[in-house]
Amino acid sequence: MHKVAESESQDDDALECGTVFSVRDGQPLPGYLPPEDPDNLAPGVFYARAGHPAVWALESRLAALEGAEAAVCAASGMSIISQAMFSLLSAGDTLLYSRCTYPNTIDFFEQHLARLGICVVATDSSDIERLAADIERCRPKVFFFEPLGNPSLAFTHPVAVARLCKAHCVISIADNSLLSPAFLRPLDAGIDIVLHSLTKIIGGFGNAMGGVAAGRAELINPIARVRWSMGGVLAPQVALKVLEGVKTLPLRAVRSSDSALRVAQALSADGRVARVVYPFLPDYPWHEPFRVASEGGGSIVTFLHARGTAGVRDMALRADAIRFGPSFGKSVTTCSGGAAMERYYGQPPGFVRLSVGLEDADEILAQLGRMLE
Ligand code: PLP
Repeated sequence: MHKVAESESQDDDALECGTVFSVRDGQPLPGYLPPEDPDNLAPGVFYARAGHPAVWALESRLAALEGAEAAVCAASGMSIISQAMFSLLSAGDTLLYSRCTYPNTIDFFEQHLARLGICVVATDSSDIERLAADIERCRPKVFFFEPLGNPSLAFTHPVAVARLCKAHCVISIADNSLLSPAFLRPLDAGIDIVLHSLTKIIGGFGNAMGGVAAGRAELINPIARVRWSMGGVLAPQVALKVLEGVKTLPLRAVRSSDSALRVAQALSADGRVARVVYPFLPDYPWHEPFRVASEGGGSIVTFLHARGTAGVRDMALRADAIRFGPSFGKSVTTCSGGAAMERYYGQPPGFVRLSVGLEDADEILAQLGRMLE
């Protein structure tokens, strides 16, 4: 009979949700207590709601990418955002957030945090003077923003935010899902916590959902504590997929960003398109500060179809290689638009958010040309 060696059984454990162990005479049984308890699990013993070797490997990799002391992963971008907020805010605290934030995040703030007695206030953080005035007025505990907003692509300067927040003892949180650490590292600018939806450019292939928060251990460990209580963990198998994506992030980010600039330039010169927004175009309102802050423009280009919602519908009907869907940051080029998305994003008729992938830029342009015919 094949005898299972100890090392072999440990290999199997690496993809299980918790270790199993044999207890020898005189040894205590490993405990299962909150993560900060000194009598918590012995080294090598884990239960995946508190952490897992595959998730720890991803967390270390992401912390290194962000220049962070610690990182914690969760089941999705929304999951890490909600866990971070539960760890930082209590009834009576104020959360100030930028209006140029992903609509689902705003929905979580307004629908759920507000219900728990947290005062939730919106501001326009791309105007730093306005932000300074709102911080003075509301005295928030936390300020939340996206350096490059989804889907407006409005820029909020992390250095200016960090300076203001530090001066007023406000914890600053940047959701950098649109740019990734390949182009901008908010912690280097002095921001306290950086978040990402790993589902997007970091995972990179649209086949894995996840989220991460990174920063100083004193801020990140309490998020892991919330995850231990609430669940919403990243599955180990998914962590391994995201790790594969992370390995090619710099290559993918540069390639899709270079193509996005070409696409944005071509669309700007196309009479069938009414308005194009891309951070590296010269008419982008924050062109200069953005170029200084970010090493790349990112893979998202937005535009308005000159024929409005009906024009976008025609684009979708002619689409072949470029398909429509709500996500972004995949290896293939995708589009988001139409009546429902216009309403969801609060954008005018004809709005399209294009996520440029890794295909040849000429092919993407040829396909877009056909879709716009
Ligand atoms: N943050 C931003 C900027 C996003 O665009 C999204 C999703 O599109 C999220 C967070 C939420 O991420 P997830 O879909 O992984 O929950």
